[in-house]
Amino acid sequence: MAANRTILVFGDQLNRAIGVLATATAEKDRILLVESTEKIGAADWHPQRLHFYLSSMRHFAEELRRDGFTVDYVRASSFRSAVAEHIATHPTSTIVATEPNSFGARQLMADLGVETLPSNQFLCHYSEFSAWVNARRAKGYKTFKLEDFYRHQRVALEILMNDGEPLGGRWNFDDENREPPPRDGHDRWPTPLIDELDDIDHQVLSDIAGHNGAGAPPLGWWATTRAGALRRLTHFIDNVLPMFGPHEDAMLTDNWHLAHSVLSPYLNNGLLMPGEIVAAAERAHREGRVDIASVEGFIRQIIGWREYVWGLYWMWMPTYRDENFLGADLDLPPALATGETSMNCVKCTVAGINDRAWAHHIQRLMILGNLALTAGINPRQFTDWMSRVFVDAAEWVMVPNVVGMALFADGGRMATKPYASGGAYIDKMSDYCKGCRYDRKKRIGDDACPFTTLYWDFLDRHSDTFVRNARIATQVRSAQKLADIAEVRVRAREVRELLQSGRL
Ligand SMILES: Cc1cc2nc3c(=O)[nH]c(=O)nc-3n(C[C@H](O)[C@H](O)[C@H](O)COP(=O)(O)OP(=O)(O)OC[C@H]3O[C@@H](n4cnc5c(N)ncnc54)[C@H](O)[C@@H]3O)c2cc1C
Ligand code: SF4
Repeated sequence: MAANRTILVFGDQLNRAIGVLATATAEKDRILLVESTEKIGAADWHPQRLHFYLSSMRHFAEELRRDGFTVDYVRASSFRSAVAEHIATHPTSTIVATEPNSFGARQLMADLGVETLPSNQFLCHYSEFSAWVNARRAKGYKTFKLEDFYRHQRVALEILMNDGEPLGGRWNFDDENREPPPRDGHDRWPTPLIDELDDIDHQVLSDIAGHNGAGAPPLGWWATTRAGALRRLTHFIDNVLPMFGPHEDAMLTDNWHLAHSVLSPYLNNGLLMPGEIVAAAERAHREGRVDIASVEGFIRQIIGWREYVWGLYWMWMPTYRDENFLGADLDLPPALATGETSMNCVKCTVAGINDRAWAHHIQRLMILGNLALTAGINPRQFTDWMSRVFVDAAEWVMVPNVVGMALFADGGRMATKPYASGGAYIDKMSDYCKGCRYDRKKRIGDDACPFTTLYWDFLDRHSDTFVRNARIATQVRSAQKLADIAEVRVRAREVRELLQSGRL
């Protein structure tokens, strides 16, 4: 029987268990995957980001062919033109897709008249998230914080629950997860798996030569098949998860991964499903291989944070990505693009991005985000840069994390306080300051730590806004009482100029 339905698969839906593909058969369905030269040429992508995306797509197409499907893998000038042409050349075939994961792609599907069916790529559909928010509002609650949503998810999905009560007697073991880095044993965390590049990987590498921006070429850190992603999941659960937690907020010069799972790229392009990751982690705990604090901390990231930002994205888009509550207007500084700076913390973090297209959460939030927040870097430029350089970048996760969490550009709709800190916090949670030419304790003078200067200046500049925020009002009042606040303002202006001209 000839295939009479075409399933359009996006590059971040690479799994037979996702949406329409879950019910597809080789007899009745043809598959359409599109590589768009418009998208490839739209930015100076980090080579590993572009390679991961394209190579995963091509591997998935091969897997589908092995399963007997007819796969139209099209290289076209644009996604829109490829789909329109497919519709024109297959007039008797219907075309369907699983709901796309970005606002723009959803619009495009509507424009092209492609029917979309619900996605199961997240554990809480965004319509369920809105229903949860509305139900809270109806009950008189003014907020819908992560912690409330996370508890709702635990109950609704029956994860880490025992007769309706949280396993271990508590919902949250976060207070055990804020330890500074260990003094020794920086190599205590197993190194993530690495694979040889295969023929498809090599072909993609040659195809993208000349189409990408700065950054090291792929070295095999990022699996481009489901089998490779599953091996990394097993490696994480067996060897790393038992250590997840205590040093979650630590940053080290000689260890890029610590006990982070490094699974976000596969969750985001579909090679792994959130349900299977959470089930594997919970099983490891129930079998006595992982303690409750570690497993709870990890599962909170997946069923809590990840699903929460997904729900917020759909609730607040499309205007959300352009919010700029603090009026931050500094252009993206060269130090972020090149890593050439005397600020050791920034240099190390950007070097890691150059090597692997990846940084862990605290580097993203408390080094890169903190610098952008306190210096006043334009949120849209910062989001666009991160989208180009991170292997796991996707609009739905990047926008809430940058606009809402890191830059307070939404005026506090997502985060209840700005994540601003000076050099003291970075020194406590990392070993960066030891190798730095700046003095983390000083806020004025040529050798003052830029983070410390910018932190006090930020509180002073935005004191009208933040003095009314109980979570940070004390620090704002301290800034206002500083005897040298006038000199801090002058030094902060210098720091911003030096940052902008690439001389910091
Ligand atoms: C400024 C900024 C930008 C970010 N950009 C991205 C991005 O483009 N893509 C992306 O996947 N994550 C992003 N994050 C969230 C988070 O930093 C990464 O998901 C995490 O560092 C990925 O590493 P991991 O897989 O080892 O995570 P782990 O620490 O092992 O956590 C497990 C999983 O939980 C999920 N998770 C944890 N925190 C968050 C969060 N805040 N939001 C959403 N999911 C979360 C991720 O899927 C992650 O894989 C960003 C955070 C910030 C502050
Ligand atoms: S002294 Fe300041 S700039 Fe240098 S590493 Fe520490 S926090 Fe970063």
